[in-house]
Amino acid sequence: MRLNTLKRAVVALALALPGAAIATLVAAPAAHADGCYTWQRTLAQGRTGADVRQLQIRVAGWADYRDIVRIDGIYGPETAAAVKRFQAAYGLRVDGIAGPQTFAKIYQLQDDDCTPKHFSYTELDNGCGKGGWSGGPLSPNATRENAVRTMWKLEALRRSLGDKPLYVNSGFRSIACNNQVDGASDSQHLYGNAADLTSRSSSLCQVARTARSRGFSSIYGPGYPDHSDHVHVDSRRENNADRSSNTTSWSAPNCGIG
Ligand code: ZN
Repeated sequence: MRLNTLKRAVVALALALPGAAIATLVAAPAAHADGCYTWQRTLAQGRTGADVRQLQIRVAGWADYRDIVRIDGIYGPETAAAVKRFQAAYGLRVDGIAGPQTFAKIYQLQDDDCTPKHFSYTELDNGCGKGGWSGGPLSPNATRENAVRTMWKLEALRRSLGDKPLYVNSGFRSIACNNQVDGASDSQHLYGNAADLTSRSSSLCQVARTARSRGFSSIYGPGYPDHSDHVHVDSRRENNADRSSNTTSWSAPNCGIG
């Protein structure tokens, strides 16, 4: 709509509607109301805020090879590059700016409960059959938030593998559950940061290789002890306060991943 036409339309509305309604109409730029989260402005490099953080959670799976997208609320080059990869993956204009077309795609991908379209809380919650997010070292809310972040990376991984189902054998584990399955005492499964995956359309090696550039800092697969029937992925690096240590850990010798 051209500016003059727009002005005329606003004036016409002002005449037609009561004052209170006009104030709302003119002040709200976002036409979309999403059940999970609605962005109110276009985001680009240099922006900071909670809305940038929300964006970073959604594009964290579009990291560079062996890299992560920091969820820090600062729209830097790393976030812009991730937005570009997201845009390319979904056939959008690739400009690294999160505007209406990027948000429209995210809205399309996210459910009202904030999980991405192809993953759900029940797939990631307590792996020993009890359900829920309690019994771990973190609060249930923090654990669940980590699981959401894990799921957005899984959504990106799934997209990269041709949009075919990825199956989660084990997600969050309470301490009791982790003991029951003989998990490592410092397992990322305890924090909601990990998922054990299988696929019927991709080989486990394809899953493991692709995960290297989908924001996962830890990958264990075929050839690593006890990982011949699934691929373990987790996000220990971005969740580690001290990023200098224990950052990336990959091992799937049968896939050529050392
Ligand atoms: Zn695992």
